[in-house]
Amino acid sequence: MPETQVSPPSETERMAAAEVAAVMSASPGPWIPGRVTILSIWPRRMVKRMTLMTAAEDGTPTSGMVDFAIEAAPPDGYSLLTVFDSFQSTLQGRRPVLAEQIARACVGDWAADTTLAKSGFRPGLSIIVGARPTVEELARERETQTGYCQAAIAEADALLAAGELRPLQAQIALFRLCAEWLGVRDREWYRELRRADYKKNGCPACGAVEIPHRAQVCPQCSKDLVEFYSSRGRVPDEDEDPVVRAEMLRMRKAGRPVAAG
Ligand SMILES: [Zn+2]
Repeated sequence: MPETQVSPPSETERMAAAEVAAVMSASPGPWIPGRVTILSIWPRRMVKRMTLMTAAEDGTPTSGMVDFAIEAAPPDGYSLLTVFDSFQSTLQGRRPVLAEQIARACVGDWAADTTLAKSGFRPGLSIIVGARPTVEELARERETQTGYCQAAIAEADALLAAGELRPLQAQIALFRLCAEWLGVRDREWYRELRRADYKKNGCPACGAVEIPHRAQVCPQCSKDLVEFYSSRGRVPDEDEDPVVRAEMLRMRKAGRPVAAG
């Protein structure tokens, strides 16, 4: 698995880290950062990456990429993510980043989705008041997400009716997720894609799962998969991706430049 490359801290970052350490040690008693909790009833794991000052294992402040991830909510359940006040190092030195700002950035990213968001629909992801959701907060998210999923299904129906298969295909993973969450299984587009099956390992370029078996271009990252394998000088084996393999062998037979292997 590729590891995130962490470059050594710049002079500014070292100074900022020292400053954070000073602030922390100057606080009376232990430093207690503010916290904000995000609630999700969305059935998929969501991640937002931000560059922040964080504390290393031993408590030393350090600047780096931080992944804020909220797990997929189980059916009829929910997931929580608590974020804390932090710092960002800038050329002017450190700048506090409140938990509220981090949480808003996460929810803003995660709840903004495709064309549906423009119509005011969004998945059930939001900031809650306490550390645990209240009955009202859960009910509100369920109502929000029900509207979102219904809108997604209506959108998929409309695309199929209009014969616009390309945008339907591009968003099919989302449409299917919404249909599953609502327990709607009677749609032609839902069954078609169940039968078509997905690539065993998803997209080799972006890691997206649920890439249609026959796709030669990833609907998520738009990477041409023939090009992807070609640039790495290899042909996927039969088990890995028979469709892209067949295409690459066909191209080679036709005398077109394609990877050996
Ligand atoms: Zn991809």
